[in-house]
Amino acid sequence: MTEMTYEERVKLGEQTLSITSAQLRQYQLEKKMITECEACGALDWESPEENAMPSLTATTAVRSPGAGNWFFSMICNNCGHTRLINAGTVWQYFFRKEPGNG
Ligand SMILES: [Zn+2]
Repeated sequence: MTEMTYEERVKLGEQTLSITSAQLRQYQLEKKMITECEACGALDWESPEENAMPSLTATTAVRSPGAGNWFFSMICNNCGHTRLINAGTVWQYFFRKEPGNG
């Protein structure tokens, strides 16, 4: 993803925020992510929600303080091990760009 305009960033953010818990679950199933926890072997995952929508965690890029990454997460209910799912990758799954549009 290179040289997005401000408007494109806002749209991308709004679209990412529109992804529902059901869609995230669909994505996790489609990508075969519901596997045994690599830390404890349990099979009991939960993706946290806020106001019935999947929780998003943002990180700051140290080398580019104005930039950052958003992640959905899935937490093992047995041991707390947490997997982060890059929100941009999930966004691509639901809002694929048109060919030739970057
Ligand atoms: Zn675990």
